[in-house]
Amino acid sequence: MTQIAEVIVDVPTMQTNTPYSYKIPAALSDQLQPGMRVVVPFGNGGRKVQGFVWQVKPDAKPDPEVTLKTIDTVMDPTPVVNAELMQLAGWLARTTYAFTITCLQTMLPNALKAKYQKWVKPSPELSQPVRQQIFGEQSELLWDDSLKPEIVKQLLTLNRQHLVQVHYAVNNQSHVKKITMVKPAMSTNELVRARKALRSTAVKQATLIDYLIAHREPISQPELEHNLKVTSTILNTGEANGWLTRQAKEVYRDPFQTAVAQTAALHLNADQEKAVHAICEATDQQHPETFLLEGVTGSGKTEVYLQAMANALKQGKQALMLVPEISLTPQIVGRVRGRFGKRVAVLHSGLSAGERFDEWRRIQRGEAQVVVGARSAVFAPLKNLGVIIVDEEHEGSYKQEDNPRYHARDVALWRSRYHHCPVVLGSATPSLESRARAQKNVYTRLVLPHRVNQQQLPQVTVVDMTEELRHHKESNFSTPLMTAIQDRLQRGEQTLLMLNRRGYSSFVMCRDCGFVLQCPNCDISLTLHMDTKTMKCHYCGHEEPIPHICPNCHSRHIRYYGTGTQKVEQELKSLLPAARIIRMDVDTTRRKGAHERLLRRFGSHQADILLGTQMIAKGLDFPDVTLVGVLNADTSLGLPDFRASERTFQLLTQVSGRAGRAEKPGQVFIQTYNPDHYAIQLAKTQNYEQFFGREMQLRHRGNYPPYYFAVKLTASDVDEHKAAEAMVSIVRKLKTVLTPKAILLGPTPSAIARVNKRYYYQLVIKYKKEPQLDSALFEILSQAQKVSRGGLQIAIDRNPMSFM
Ligand code: ADP
Ligand code: ZN
Ligand code: ZN
Repeated sequence: MTQIAEVIVDVPTMQTNTPYSYKIPAALSDQLQPGMRVVVPFGNGGRKVQGFVWQVKPDAKPDPEVTLKTIDTVMDPTPVVNAELMQLAGWLARTTYAFTITCLQTMLPNALKAKYQKWVKPSPELSQPVRQQIFGEQSELLWDDSLKPEIVKQLLTLNRQHLVQVHYAVNNQSHVKKITMVKPAMSTNELVRARKALRSTAVKQATLIDYLIAHREPISQPELEHNLKVTSTILNTGEANGWLTRQAKEVYRDPFQTAVAQTAALHLNADQEKAVHAICEATDQQHPETFLLEGVTGSGKTEVYLQAMANALKQGKQALMLVPEISLTPQIVGRVRGRFGKRVAVLHSGLSAGERFDEWRRIQRGEAQVVVGARSAVFAPLKNLGVIIVDEEHEGSYKQEDNPRYHARDVALWRSRYHHCPVVLGSATPSLESRARAQKNVYTRLVLPHRVNQQQLPQVTVVDMTEELRHHKESNFSTPLMTAIQDRLQRGEQTLLMLNRRGYSSFVMCRDCGFVLQCPNCDISLTLHMDTKTMKCHYCGHEEPIPHICPNCHSRHIRYYGTGTQKVEQELKSLLPAARIIRMDVDTTRRKGAHERLLRRFGSHQADILLGTQMIAKGLDFPDVTLVGVLNADTSLGLPDFRASERTFQLLTQVSGRAGRAEKPGQVFIQTYNPDHYAIQLAKTQNYEQFFGREMQLRHRGNYPPYYFAVKLTASDVDEHKAAEAMVSIVRKLKTVLTPKAILLGPTPSAIARVNKRYYYQLVIKYKKEPQLDSALFEILSQAQKVSRGGLQIAIDRNPMSFM
């Protein structure tokens, strides 16, 4: 009887997107479980690749016609992907047109995404001189880019002659952090005797023995050295004399630098109470219900989450809370940690790979009951979920832009069905999709219509910038906003200023000929970065020095344009020299922990003004902020996309909600060139329900989501014709399977038609019910791979966040 394992190999192509059968070697019989990583030979050359055990068949009867290859080695003592996540990977692959292997890899922390290393070893038959010449004193050689070409050539020949052997090691450094622990190795009496035998000059040794006599429990070496003011030499002596032993102990890196004070559950108001009650009931009855928690900013949604999670923990279950990366601020994390302390694990991109891996292992081992994290935390290996929270559920960053193009909210809903637990989608401005489902009673709607403690929503003023421009020359600040800022400075209150930077940046333009410096690879102008004094492309990373002479007409009148945060900061400084300003954007928050430091400084009132991009719009809760200014509300409105109004409304509502959260009332100024636009007018009154009604009408009229589903196909190639041709033939093919009810937009060049030397063409399909669409799309994907490797690329995005 042969044991066979079905393995998903790490060869991401359509053709290999199915499990392959391998024989399990005797040494591994009854050892393998689904979700373990293995190394297997693959293809004709028997190249070693990594794979995931998908299924184990203990008594398979293999087809005698087929000779199965045998698994090489196993990489994990226990599965790294559990049964639930294996099943989820299969579902993800089917619904996002991705490869199962890509889905599996996506679920793991980077530290577990193995790289392969190629090693060469001399065979016993290899002659001594050649061996010496190639290997020197080494027993094997790492075969990488650093090898000289002539050596590589020689090795290839030797390999054919079987005089060297090549093997692949999968670099499985799981980066477990260890610390040395010191503990006494003798009884107290023996130590006392050793102490007496010391020379009187051996003061440090005596200190060490005294310590060992007094403390029997292990202590970390750095701590001991610090406490006793001794060096490691003394500890070496201690070990050599048998006084103490040292042992490496696995430790977790602590991503939290600061301690958080414990908080207790607040007394809920009636609306909160109702919401918490409904969610807890679903947890207790194991009901996979989806709640839409619609609460104005400052209505206490977070408290509802915390109490719903506490209830899950009380039931012996676990809780998962997703927040958008941009609002994964220390404030939010602090509030969760304040309630649940050490039971919390945090997953976000600010952690080092090692810290992330440690947090992941704590979850995997069941040592953390609460997980807070951004998009990919939705794959946290929690085994017994009692509730899942998706905060700011409308946020576009929950959708991954690369393969697999999943939406964390959809994954959360899948896991809720698997675990029979509720999901809470929370927002002050729900996505139209979710709100529409609540309308149809697919989701249960819970509403928090008032701010906590009856605080007023901030008073919002819309400032017409065309009017302002007529009065004074170009400035980022209108008179009413500037007056309000000065007023706050005098009162010692704080101001948030947001620069809406989407699709907007600083660039360099020649005043004489109008030349704008473009990226040589992409259809986009280069962005000015003052910190590095360079021009950068935000799409491909191309970088070049700032020009001082126009490359086109050689004029010296080359100037900076656009309103980058740096420029606004400069203007602010010259207008208000006494104001203390903190600038928060991608440039100032690039370094690890910078985000947190800046916010802490602002929170402790070391600055009067926080100036930033969208990253300051969400989740911040500072009691002294009584003024919010939006410098340019229009930039997101002008985008040629069906979600432009929705995005603008959401952003304005969110950022307005930062003002006047404590006793002092808040005030908001929105500067715009489109003061009458409904998204701006309704953001002014924070009237989500009215916005929803209005926007739904427009979507209905235009056949947009949520009335229609959508799929976006993109073809790209270095050759523009090939990309266009591919799209045209895809359209021809699709037309044969689609019903007449499907609506095709395109093919057209994408909004940014060229990125990194590749040309992009796209097609959007809007549809309600197309039974043949899925199989046609899979077919297109697998065709595309056969056509050309490296050249043409086809991407398929179901429910795209935008049509651009
Ligand atoms: P949201 O998440 O809806 O914007 P928060 O949860 O941040 O609102 O709540 C706003 C403020 O009100 C916070 O400072 C929070 O501590 C406080 N808060 C929430 N619920 C209560 C309550 N039931 N009693 C007193 N204060 C509350
Ligand atoms: Zn570029
Ligand atoms: Zn010029």
